[in-house]
Amino acid sequence: MPELSRKLINFTDSVIRRMTRISDKYGAINLSQGFPDFDPPREIEEALKTAAFKGPHQYSITWGAQNLREALAEKQSKFMGLDIDPDTQIVVTCGSTEAMMASVMTVCNPGDKVIVFSPFYENYAADAILSGAEPIYVPLYPPDFSFNRVELESAFKQKPKALILCNPSNPSGKVFTLEELKFIAGLAEKYDSFVITDEVYEHIVMDPYKHVYFASLPGMFNRTLSCSSLSKTYSITGWRIGYVIGDERIIENVRKVHDFLTVGAAAPLQEAVVAGLKLPMEYYSWLKNLYTKKRDMFLQGLSEAGLKYVKPQGAYYVLIDVSEFNVRDDLKFCEWLAKEVGIGAVPGSSFFKEDVNYLIRLHFAKKDETLLKSIEKLKTLREKAQFYRE
Ligand code: GLN
Repeated sequence: MPELSRKLINFTDSVIRRMTRISDKYGAINLSQGFPDFDPPREIEEALKTAAFKGPHQYSITWGAQNLREALAEKQSKFMGLDIDPDTQIVVTCGSTEAMMASVMTVCNPGDKVIVFSPFYENYAADAILSGAEPIYVPLYPPDFSFNRVELESAFKQKPKALILCNPSNPSGKVFTLEELKFIAGLAEKYDSFVITDEVYEHIVMDPYKHVYFASLPGMFNRTLSCSSLSKTYSITGWRIGYVIGDERIIENVRKVHDFLTVGAAAPLQEAVVAGLKLPMEYYSWLKNLYTKKRDMFLQGLSEAGLKYVKPQGAYYVLIDVSEFNVRDDLKFCEWLAKEVGIGAVPGSSFFKEDVNYLIRLHFAKKDETLLKSIEKLKTLREKAQFYRE
Protein backbone atom coordinates (compact mmCIF):
# COMPACT_ATOMS: atom_id res chain seq x y z
CA MET A 1 0.00 0.00 0.00
CA PRO A 2 1.31 3.53 -0.70
CA GLU A 3 2.35 5.59 2.29
CA LEU A 4 -0.36 7.55 4.10
CA SER A 5 0.14 11.17 5.10
CA ARG A 6 2.97 11.57 7.62
CA LYS A 7 0.97 14.28 9.36
CA LEU A 8 -1.14 11.57 10.95
CA ILE A 9 1.77 9.99 12.77
CA ASN A 10 1.94 12.93 15.12
CA PHE A 11 -1.43 12.53 16.80
CA THR A 12 -3.92 9.83 17.76
CA ASP A 13 -7.68 9.75 17.44
CA SER A 14 -9.43 11.86 20.09
CA VAL A 15 -9.02 10.27 23.53
CA ILE A 16 -12.09 12.22 24.72
CA ARG A 17 -14.29 10.64 22.10
CA ARG A 18 -12.62 7.26 22.61
CA MET A 19 -13.59 7.44 26.29
CA THR A 20 -17.24 7.89 25.31
CA ARG A 21 -17.06 4.58 23.44
CA ILE A 22 -15.33 2.90 26.40
CA SER A 23 -17.95 4.28 28.83
CA ASP A 24 -20.72 2.98 26.61
CA LYS A 25 -19.06 -0.43 26.36
CA TYR A 26 -19.12 -0.82 30.16
CA GLY A 27 -22.47 0.92 30.66
CA ALA A 28 -20.75 3.58 32.79
CA ILE A 29 -22.13 7.04 33.48
CA ASN A 30 -20.29 9.04 30.87
CA LEU A 31 -18.62 12.03 32.49
CA SER A 32 -15.86 12.01 29.87
CA GLN A 33 -16.86 13.78 26.63
CA GLY A 34 -18.56 17.01 27.65
CA PHE A 35 -22.21 17.04 26.65
CA PRO A 36 -25.46 17.36 28.62
CA ASP A 37 -27.98 14.60 29.25
CA PHE A 38 -30.78 17.17 29.48
CA ASP A 39 -32.86 18.73 26.71
CA PRO A 40 -32.25 21.96 24.84
CA PRO A 41 -34.67 24.90 25.39
CA ARG A 42 -38.22 24.05 24.32
CA GLU A 43 -38.22 26.96 21.81
CA ILE A 44 -35.41 25.31 19.87
CA GLU A 45 -37.14 21.92 19.85
CA GLU A 46 -40.35 23.52 18.55
CA ALA A 47 -38.44 25.37 15.85
CA LEU A 48 -36.81 22.10 14.79
CA LYS A 49 -40.24 20.51 14.47
CA THR A 50 -41.36 23.37 12.23
CA ALA A 51 -38.18 23.16 10.15
CA ALA A 52 -38.77 19.45 9.62
CA PHE A 53 -41.94 20.24 7.66
CA LYS A 54 -41.29 23.72 6.30
CA GLY A 55 -37.61 23.35 5.52
CA PRO A 56 -35.13 24.48 4.46
CA HIS A 57 -33.87 21.10 3.36
CA GLN A 58 -31.40 22.24 0.72
CA TYR A 59 -28.05 24.00 1.05
CA SER A 60 -28.06 27.32 2.76
CA ILE A 61 -25.59 30.05 1.77
CA THR A 62 -22.21 28.44 2.33
CA TRP A 63 -21.12 30.92 5.04
CA GLY A 64 -24.43 30.59 6.90
CA ALA A 65 -28.11 31.36 6.41
CA GLN A 66 -28.86 35.08 6.38
CA ASN A 67 -31.31 34.97 9.31
CA LEU A 68 -28.89 32.94 11.42
CA ARG A 69 -26.00 35.32 10.78
CA GLU A 70 -28.23 38.28 11.60
CA ALA A 71 -29.40 36.70 14.86
CA LEU A 72 -25.83 35.73 15.74
CA ALA A 73 -24.49 39.19 14.97
CA GLU A 74 -27.17 40.76 17.13
CA LYS A 75 -26.55 38.50 20.12
CA GLN A 76 -22.75 38.49 19.91
CA SER A 77 -22.57 42.27 19.36
CA LYS A 78 -24.43 42.66 22.64
CA PHE A 79 -22.21 40.28 24.58
CA MET A 80 -18.90 41.19 22.95
CA GLY A 81 -19.54 44.93 23.01
CA LEU A 82 -18.78 45.16 19.29
CA ASP A 83 -20.78 46.03 16.21
CA ILE A 84 -20.58 42.84 14.17
CA ASP A 85 -21.66 42.93 10.54
CA PRO A 86 -23.68 39.79 9.70
CA ASP A 87 -22.84 40.17 6.00
CA THR A 88 -19.07 40.36 6.21
CA GLN A 89 -17.81 39.35 9.65
CA ILE A 90 -19.30 35.92 10.37
CA VAL A 91 -18.94 32.42 8.95
CA VAL A 92 -21.22 29.69 10.26
CA THR A 93 -19.38 26.35 10.50
CA CYS A 94 -19.98 22.73 11.47
CA GLY A 95 -19.32 23.21 15.17
CA SER A 96 -16.44 25.15 16.65
CA THR A 97 -14.32 22.14 15.67
CA GLU A 98 -14.55 23.25 12.06
CA ALA A 99 -14.39 26.91 13.07
CA MET A 100 -11.00 26.30 14.69
CA MET A 101 -9.66 24.11 11.90
CA ALA A 102 -10.77 26.60 9.23
CA SER A 103 -9.22 29.45 11.24
CA VAL A 104 -5.87 27.76 11.67
CA MET A 105 -5.85 26.78 7.98
CA THR A 106 -6.68 30.36 7.05
CA VAL A 107 -3.75 31.93 8.88
CA CYS A 108 -1.01 29.28 8.68
CA ASN A 109 1.56 28.43 6.06
CA PRO A 110 3.53 25.17 6.20
CA GLY A 111 6.22 25.43 8.87
CA ASP A 112 4.49 28.21 10.85
CA LYS A 113 4.35 27.93 14.62
CA VAL A 114 1.21 28.14 16.72
CA ILE A 115 1.28 28.73 20.49
CA VAL A 116 -0.92 26.39 22.49
CA PHE A 117 -1.27 26.58 26.27
CA SER A 118 -0.88 23.27 28.10
CA PRO A 119 -3.22 21.81 29.34
CA PHE A 120 -5.20 22.19 26.12
CA TYR A 121 -8.25 20.80 24.39
CA GLU A 122 -6.83 18.03 22.24
CA ASN A 123 -8.07 19.30 18.85
CA TYR A 124 -5.62 22.21 18.78
CA ALA A 125 -2.48 20.24 18.02
CA ALA A 126 -4.32 18.37 15.28
CA ASP A 127 -5.60 21.69 13.87
CA ALA A 128 -2.03 22.98 13.68
CA ILE A 129 -0.49 19.80 12.28
CA LEU A 130 -3.18 19.27 9.63
CA SER A 131 -2.60 22.89 8.58
CA GLY A 132 1.11 22.12 8.14
CA ALA A 133 2.00 24.15 11.22
CA GLU A 134 3.82 23.19 14.39
CA PRO A 135 2.35 23.64 17.86
CA ILE A 136 4.62 25.14 20.51
CA TYR A 137 3.48 24.77 24.09
CA VAL A 138 3.44 27.14 27.04
CA PRO A 139 2.53 25.63 30.41
CA LEU A 140 -0.30 26.86 32.61
CA TYR A 141 0.57 26.26 36.25
CA PRO A 142 -1.92 24.95 38.81
CA PRO A 143 -3.69 25.77 41.04
CA ASP A 144 -4.92 28.81 39.07
CA PHE A 145 -3.40 27.69 35.75
CA SER A 146 -1.62 30.98 35.19
CA PHE A 147 1.24 31.31 32.72
CA ASN A 148 4.75 32.57 33.35
CA ARG A 149 5.12 35.85 31.45
CA VAL A 150 8.76 35.23 30.56
CA GLU A 151 7.93 31.77 29.17
CA LEU A 152 5.09 33.19 27.11
CA GLU A 153 7.27 35.91 25.66
CA SER A 154 9.98 33.37 24.79
CA ALA A 155 7.38 31.45 22.81
CA PHE A 156 6.39 34.67 21.02
CA LYS A 157 10.07 35.29 20.22
CA GLN A 158 9.84 32.24 17.96
CA LYS A 159 7.52 34.40 15.80
CA PRO A 160 4.39 32.26 15.97
CA LYS A 161 1.70 32.91 13.39
CA ALA A 162 -1.00 32.57 16.02
CA LEU A 163 -1.81 31.79 19.62
CA ILE A 164 -4.77 29.59 20.45
CA LEU A 165 -6.71 30.81 23.46
CA CYS A 166 -9.35 28.59 25.05
CA ASN A 167 -11.26 30.82 27.45
CA PRO A 168 -13.03 29.70 29.65
CA SER A 169 -10.58 26.90 29.51
CA ASN A 170 -11.08 23.22 28.84
CA PRO A 171 -9.99 21.12 30.79
CA SER A 172 -8.82 23.34 33.68
CA GLY A 173 -11.91 25.53 34.16
CA LYS A 174 -9.66 28.58 34.20
CA VAL A 175 -11.12 31.96 33.27
CA PHE A 176 -8.32 34.24 32.06
CA THR A 177 -8.14 37.53 33.92
CA LEU A 178 -8.28 40.89 32.17
CA GLU A 179 -4.61 41.48 33.09
CA GLU A 180 -3.56 38.16 31.56
CA LEU A 181 -5.53 38.86 28.40
CA LYS A 182 -4.04 42.35 28.10
CA PHE A 183 -0.57 40.84 28.47
CA ILE A 184 -1.30 38.35 25.67
CA ALA A 185 -2.70 41.20 23.56
CA GLY A 186 0.50 43.19 24.07
CA LEU A 187 2.61 40.26 22.85
CA ALA A 188 0.31 39.55 19.91
CA GLU A 189 0.76 43.17 18.87
CA LYS A 190 4.51 43.27 19.51
CA TYR A 191 5.21 40.05 17.61
CA ASP A 192 2.44 40.56 15.05
CA SER A 193 0.55 37.32 15.63
CA PHE A 194 -3.06 36.31 15.27
CA VAL A 195 -5.09 35.06 18.21
CA ILE A 196 -7.56 32.27 17.53
CA THR A 197 -10.02 31.89 20.39
CA ASP A 198 -12.16 28.98 21.45
CA GLU A 199 -14.91 30.56 23.53
CA VAL A 200 -17.53 27.83 23.50
CA TYR A 201 -18.00 28.15 27.29
CA GLU A 202 -18.51 31.93 27.07
CA HIS A 203 -21.81 31.68 29.00
CA ILE A 204 -20.63 29.17 31.59
CA VAL A 205 -18.61 31.41 33.90
CA MET A 206 -19.24 31.27 37.63
CA ASP A 207 -19.26 34.34 39.89
CA PRO A 208 -17.12 36.26 40.66
CA TYR A 209 -15.30 35.51 37.40
CA LYS A 210 -16.17 37.37 34.20
CA HIS A 211 -15.65 36.40 30.62
CA VAL A 212 -13.73 38.97 28.59
CA TYR A 213 -13.89 38.44 24.82
CA PHE A 214 -10.36 38.72 23.49
CA ALA A 215 -11.60 40.47 20.34
CA SER A 216 -13.10 43.22 22.48
CA LEU A 217 -9.70 44.34 23.83
CA PRO A 218 -8.41 47.58 22.30
CA GLY A 219 -6.84 46.95 18.90
CA MET A 220 -7.44 43.19 18.97
CA PHE A 221 -10.45 42.78 16.66
CA ASN A 222 -8.27 42.93 13.53
CA ARG A 223 -6.00 40.11 14.64
CA THR A 224 -8.52 37.85 16.41
CA LEU A 225 -10.51 35.00 14.94
CA SER A 226 -13.23 34.45 17.54
CA CYS A 227 -14.48 30.88 17.36
CA SER A 228 -17.43 29.63 19.29
CA SER A 229 -20.48 27.44 18.95
CA LEU A 230 -24.08 27.03 19.98
CA SER A 231 -23.42 23.52 21.32
CA LYS A 232 -22.82 24.30 24.98
CA THR A 233 -24.94 27.46 25.24
CA TYR A 234 -28.12 25.74 24.05
CA SER A 235 -27.30 22.11 24.96
CA ILE A 236 -27.19 20.98 21.32
CA THR A 237 -23.73 19.47 20.94
CA GLY A 238 -24.94 17.05 18.27
CA TRP A 239 -26.20 19.80 15.99
CA ARG A 240 -22.70 20.90 15.08
CA ILE A 241 -23.33 24.62 14.64
CA GLY A 242 -20.39 26.90 15.27
CA TYR A 243 -18.99 30.12 13.88
CA VAL A 244 -16.01 32.38 13.39
CA ILE A 245 -16.26 36.14 13.87
CA GLY A 246 -13.55 38.52 12.71
CA ASP A 247 -12.39 41.33 10.50
CA GLU A 248 -13.92 41.10 7.00
CA ARG A 249 -10.50 40.64 5.34
CA ILE A 250 -9.92 37.55 7.46
CA ILE A 251 -13.48 36.25 7.27
CA GLU A 252 -13.51 36.46 3.47
CA ASN A 253 -10.71 33.90 3.56
CA VAL A 254 -12.15 31.71 6.32
CA ARG A 255 -15.23 31.47 4.10
CA LYS A 256 -13.15 30.04 1.27
CA VAL A 257 -11.60 27.39 3.51
CA HIS A 258 -14.99 26.56 5.04
CA ASP A 259 -16.66 26.33 1.63
CA PHE A 260 -14.21 23.71 0.44
CA LEU A 261 -14.11 21.84 3.73
CA THR A 262 -17.82 21.34 4.33
CA VAL A 263 -19.93 23.65 2.07
CA GLY A 264 -22.13 24.43 5.04
CA ALA A 265 -23.71 23.44 8.32
CA ALA A 266 -27.04 21.54 8.23
CA ALA A 267 -29.66 23.94 6.83
CA PRO A 268 -32.71 22.89 8.91
CA LEU A 269 -30.63 23.08 12.09
CA GLN A 270 -29.38 26.56 11.17
CA GLU A 271 -33.01 27.60 10.81
CA ALA A 272 -34.10 26.03 14.11
CA VAL A 273 -31.30 27.45 16.22
CA VAL A 274 -32.34 31.02 15.44
CA ALA A 275 -35.05 30.50 18.10
CA GLY A 276 -32.25 29.98 20.65
CA LEU A 277 -30.47 33.16 19.66
CA LYS A 278 -33.72 35.07 20.12
CA LEU A 279 -34.14 33.94 23.74
CA PRO A 280 -34.21 36.83 26.24
CA MET A 281 -31.08 37.82 28.17
CA GLU A 282 -32.46 36.06 31.27
CA TYR A 283 -31.72 32.74 29.57
CA TYR A 284 -27.99 33.33 29.97
CA SER A 285 -28.18 34.14 33.67
CA TRP A 286 -30.38 31.07 34.11
CA LEU A 287 -27.72 28.96 32.36
CA LYS A 288 -24.95 30.39 34.51
CA ASN A 289 -26.94 29.67 37.69
CA LEU A 290 -27.77 26.18 36.49
CA TYR A 291 -24.10 25.31 35.99
CA THR A 292 -23.03 27.06 39.19
CA LYS A 293 -25.45 24.84 41.14
CA LYS A 294 -24.29 21.74 39.30
CA ARG A 295 -20.65 22.58 39.89
CA ASP A 296 -21.20 23.18 43.61
CA MET A 297 -23.23 20.01 44.03
CA PHE A 298 -20.68 17.92 42.17
CA LEU A 299 -17.68 19.39 43.99
CA GLN A 300 -19.34 18.77 47.33
CA GLY A 301 -19.85 15.14 46.31
CA LEU A 302 -16.21 14.86 45.26
CA SER A 303 -15.13 16.20 48.64
CA GLU A 304 -17.41 13.72 50.39
CA ALA A 305 -15.81 10.98 48.29
CA GLY A 306 -12.42 12.17 49.60
CA LEU A 307 -11.20 13.25 46.17
CA LYS A 308 -8.91 16.21 45.55
CA TYR A 309 -9.66 18.63 42.73
CA VAL A 310 -9.05 22.13 41.43
CA LYS A 311 -12.21 24.25 41.65
CA PRO A 312 -13.23 25.36 38.16
CA GLN A 313 -14.06 29.03 37.53
CA GLY A 314 -15.87 28.35 34.28
CA ALA A 315 -16.78 25.67 31.69
CA TYR A 316 -18.09 22.34 33.03
CA TYR A 317 -15.04 20.24 33.75
CA VAL A 318 -13.08 19.40 36.86
CA LEU A 319 -9.59 17.93 37.07
CA ILE A 320 -9.24 15.38 39.86
CA ASP A 321 -5.94 14.33 41.40
CA VAL A 322 -5.67 10.54 41.44
CA SER A 323 -2.00 10.33 42.39
CA GLU A 324 -2.81 8.49 45.63
CA PHE A 325 -3.89 5.46 43.57
CA ASN A 326 -0.40 4.86 42.12
CA VAL A 327 -1.50 5.52 38.56
CA ARG A 328 1.24 5.11 36.00
CA ASP A 329 -0.94 4.82 32.94
CA ASP A 330 -3.94 7.11 33.31
CA LEU A 331 -5.67 5.70 30.22
CA LYS A 332 -5.64 2.25 31.84
CA PHE A 333 -6.89 3.83 35.07
CA CYS A 334 -9.81 5.44 33.21
CA GLU A 335 -10.71 2.13 31.58
CA TRP A 336 -10.65 0.51 35.02
CA LEU A 337 -12.78 3.38 36.38
CA ALA A 338 -15.41 2.86 33.68
CA LYS A 339 -15.47 -0.90 34.22
CA GLU A 340 -15.20 -1.19 38.00
CA VAL A 341 -16.61 2.08 39.32
CA GLY A 342 -19.04 2.79 36.47
CA ILE A 343 -17.76 6.30 35.69
CA GLY A 344 -16.40 7.49 32.34
CA ALA A 345 -13.52 9.98 32.67
CA VAL A 346 -10.85 11.41 30.40
CA PRO A 347 -7.18 10.69 31.25
CA GLY A 348 -5.41 13.94 32.06
CA SER A 349 -2.41 13.04 29.90
CA SER A 350 -4.45 13.75 26.77
CA PHE A 351 -4.56 17.44 27.73
CA PHE A 352 -0.92 18.02 28.66
CA LYS A 353 2.27 18.39 26.70
CA GLU A 354 4.16 17.70 29.93
CA ASP A 355 4.32 14.21 31.36
CA VAL A 356 1.21 14.37 33.58
CA ASN A 357 -0.53 11.14 34.50
CA TYR A 358 -2.05 11.85 37.89
CA LEU A 359 -5.16 13.73 36.79
CA ILE A 360 -8.48 12.70 35.33
CA ARG A 361 -11.16 15.01 33.92
CA LEU A 362 -14.85 14.65 34.76
CA HIS A 363 -17.66 16.92 33.60
CA PHE A 364 -20.83 18.00 35.39
CA ALA A 365 -23.14 18.87 32.48
CA LYS A 366 -25.63 16.32 33.70
CA LYS A 367 -29.08 16.19 35.31
CA ASP A 368 -28.92 16.48 39.10
CA GLU A 369 -30.06 12.87 39.41
CA THR A 370 -27.20 11.71 37.17
CA LEU A 371 -24.73 13.74 39.22
CA LEU A 372 -26.06 12.24 42.46
CA LYS A 373 -25.75 8.72 41.04
CA SER A 374 -22.22 9.51 39.89
CA ILE A 375 -21.28 10.75 43.34
CA GLU A 376 -22.55 7.50 44.89
CA LYS A 377 -20.31 5.58 42.51
CA LEU A 378 -17.34 7.86 43.09
CA LYS A 379 -17.71 7.30 46.82
CA THR A 380 -16.71 3.68 46.21
CA LEU A 381 -13.59 4.69 44.29
CA ARG A 382 -11.08 4.91 47.13
CA GLU A 383 -12.03 1.53 48.51
CA LYS A 384 -12.04 -0.18 45.11
CA ALA A 385 -8.78 1.50 44.14
CA GLN A 386 -6.95 -0.44 46.86
CA PHE A 387 -7.16 -3.35 44.44
CA TYR A 388 -6.16 -1.30 41.38
CA ARG A 389 -3.17 -2.83 39.61
CA GLU A 390 -1.70 -1.97 36.24
N1 GLN B 1 -15.43 19.82 24.12
C1 GLN B 1 -15.89 18.51 24.51
C2 GLN B 1 -14.96 17.89 25.54
O1 GLN B 1 -13.91 18.38 25.79
C3 GLN B 1 -15.97 17.56 23.37
C4 GLN B 1 -16.29 18.17 22.10
C5 GLN B 1 -16.19 17.16 21.01
O2 GLN B 1 -15.96 15.98 21.25
N2 GLN B 1 -16.34 17.65 19.83
O3 GLN B 1 -15.31 16.87 26.05
